[in-house]
Amino acid sequence: MLTSIAGRSVIVTGSSKGIGKGMARVFASKGARVLVVARDQAAAQKCADELKAAGGQAAAVSADVTKWADMQRMADAAVKQHGGIDVLCANAGIFPAAKLADMEPETWDEVLATNLKGMFLSIKACLPAMKQKKKGRIIITSSITGPITGLPGWTAYGASKAGQLGFLHTAAIELAPHNITINAVMPGNVMTEGLEGLGAEYLKKMTDSVPLRKLGAVEDIGHAALFFASDEAGYITGQTLVIDGGQVLPESLTAIEEMGT
Ligand code: NAP
Repeated sequence: MLTSIAGRSVIVTGSSKGIGKGMARVFASKGARVLVVARDQAAAQKCADELKAAGGQAAAVSADVTKWADMQRMADAAVKQHGGIDVLCANAGIFPAAKLADMEPETWDEVLATNLKGMFLSIKACLPAMKQKKKGRIIITSSITGPITGLPGWTAYGASKAGQLGFLHTAAIELAPHNITINAVMPGNVMTEGLEGLGAEYLKKMTDSVPLRKLGAVEDIGHAALFFASDEAGYITGQTLVIDGGQVLPESLTAIEEMGT
């Protein structure tokens, strides 16, 4: 049982749906005050309303992680509405698929601008409020794709997710004197609204490569983020946690076939 985080101010970027929404739900269910962030104002507000309807405390702000002014406005909103910033989940990300030879240079720029620069801007914007409190917790949503595995069509995505971990190691050293920890969750294949449309056959193929024989739930990632945000994780910084049902473990097709027996 972790020490309560009730009343703490938590920002989750990219939380109108998917993993971010799962994180927001987990934090709100533990009594945190959650700021839901996405570009689509109506979708962000809908998520905040759902959290409140379930008994949580939440507010919404429309902001684009690629825009510095938006990230400053997001941090200001958390300070004004929730009394500061205790936790930032830098989660917003995009994953347009394009094979290397076909990828438009603009696609590369868009992925890096959102997943890597957007993560940096969201973190930079929250630092003054965390330094004022003399403590803070930052949780980056990276991925197994890039740092550990490869998937055709996702070179830009993989580069952005591995880049986040390069950022993590130095950021952890820079932020340590301020009692701010920064860690990363590395999800495997997680069941989100976006995956639901890919069809039963595609989902079965994905599930069959996971030793635990199921896709991750968004709350699985939320609970890992909650751990990094907890008082008990206060001595952990610059680290990663893979949450993938064992997906990265099979070393060969034989191992995957053995899983079926
Ligand atoms: P998702 O369902 O597509 O949700 C993405 C969220 O990010 C939405 O709320 C979206 O809202 C927001 N967003 C996108 N671009 C944004 C921007 N420029 N500024 C602010 N918000 C933005 O995605 P997901 O699958 O949950 O993925 C979330 C994170 O988990 C990403 O970093 C992804 O790389 C990582 N991840 C996902 C999986 C998986 O299996 N799903 C696995 C490993 C890692 P708006 O469009 O309204 O802005």
